[in-house]
Amino acid sequence: MSIRMAVFGTGYLGATHAACMAELGHEVLGVDVDAEKIERLRSGDVPFYEPGLPEILRRNIDNGRLSFTTSYEEAAEFADVHFLGVGTPQRRGDYGADLKYVHAVIDTLAPLLRRPALIAGKSTVPVGTASDLAERLRQRAPAGDDVELAWNPEFLREGYAVKDTLEPDRIVVGVKPGGQAEALLRDVYATALHAGTPYLVMDYATAELVKVSANAFLATKISFINAMAEVCEAVGGDVTLLADAIGFDDRIGRKFLNAGLGFGGGCLPKDIRAFMARAGELGADQALTFLREVDSINMRRRTRMVELATAASGGSLLGKNVAVLGAAFKPQSDDVRDSPALNVSGQMQLKGANVSVYDPKAMDNARKIFPTLDYAESITDACEKADIVLVLTEWQEFRDLDPAALEGVVRKKVVADGRNCLNAPKWAEAGWTYRALGRAAA
Ligand code: NAD
Repeated sequence: MSIRMAVFGTGYLGATHAACMAELGHEVLGVDVDAEKIERLRSGDVPFYEPGLPEILRRNIDNGRLSFTTSYEEAAEFADVHFLGVGTPQRRGDYGADLKYVHAVIDTLAPLLRRPALIAGKSTVPVGTASDLAERLRQRAPAGDDVELAWNPEFLREGYAVKDTLEPDRIVVGVKPGGQAEALLRDVYATALHAGTPYLVMDYATAELVKVSANAFLATKISFINAMAEVCEAVGGDVTLLADAIGFDDRIGRKFLNAGLGFGGGCLPKDIRAFMARAGELGADQALTFLREVDSINMRRRTRMVELATAASGGSLLGKNVAVLGAAFKPQSDDVRDSPALNVSGQMQLKGANVSVYDPKAMDNARKIFPTLDYAESITDACEKADIVLVLTEWQEFRDLDPAALEGVVRKKVVADGRNCLNAPKWAEAGWTYRALGRAAA
């Protein structure tokens, strides 16, 4: 059954959701306040890097199931289901989530809804937001009780966003069980449900919590292994061997146990902070004090990386040429929000290094937020006369780098592996000094 839907916010989440819903056979209108973004999407151009998305976007624009607008009136007129996928960034000056974009969508859309409609929130929000929004809707929507709200958190990973949207691990819906809204969402997700995807119906608060607790768990797992890396560094152990060994225990599992520079991006850091802030407001702050440690361990990795680079450069970065491979917060993405690679690059520049950055996809975004760094055209260009090469995002082309190919390009054969992603013996055999977080010098 084809459903008419609008998706508000056409960023990483919204554009992917809109295109994938059209791919599943629905009629979709993507809505954004950014007219330039809408123009690009209309012309079939994805404004960010996401493998597989351009093909789906173009196919569904061409077949007429997917279109884009800046007009809320058009969306209110067109859709039966309104997905909400706008940003919920960290508030300036504190840990809480800024809900201004979410409120703007509700406040603009609600008065325009003159017939039954379902609003399904996908943005990551502090627990309690959905019930507040339901009240906001009741006050502002002329169709009153015929306008319902559901909370349907999104779990997609950048880099795998298309697959995660078309074939999710589970679908979580905060909504009154057995009502019209639940039935409508079952129709929206019919393809996944037929394929056996678990469909979990719960109250608003639990649905909101599922998302933030999943992110808190993932962040904790990463910081756990990075804490072990700190201990390995103190004692001369090897965190990669440790991770493999504990990962064989299937109660632990090897995924998310890659020690290195830690997490960044537009989700994990701000989500764990917003979770702590919300727990504080609810009087349950003690429950999440461990997340403060998770955050500190994560941020310490960035400083440690700078220390490691300094030590490997003979004790000072002043005047040194540093090649940084990687700017995106992770591979398969051009997202540089809270990117550990750029944070480390900035810190090294402040210590007097000449930092040259190369990333296969994130250069334009990096330039926008860190205009004072030097940006190179290629790996070789970045490594030209380098005193040290840092690998800070584990792109496959960096993993595959042949150390021999950089002979005669760099000034000194010193490499610091911030992601434990290089073949250490290969670099050592080629005559390089290899340094990595959580491992003794090779
Ligand atoms: P984003 O910044 O890429 O996109 C947000 C979009 O919303 C922008 O295009 C912006 O112009 C638009 N917008 C702002 N105000 C608007 C308004 N009033 N009406 C219509 N559009 C408006 O952010 P994102 O990464 O897509 O994240 C969106 C939400 O999804 C956040 O809550 C995030 O935590 C959550 N989330 C993101 C991911 C991810 O991997 N990016 C995964 C799961 C959940």
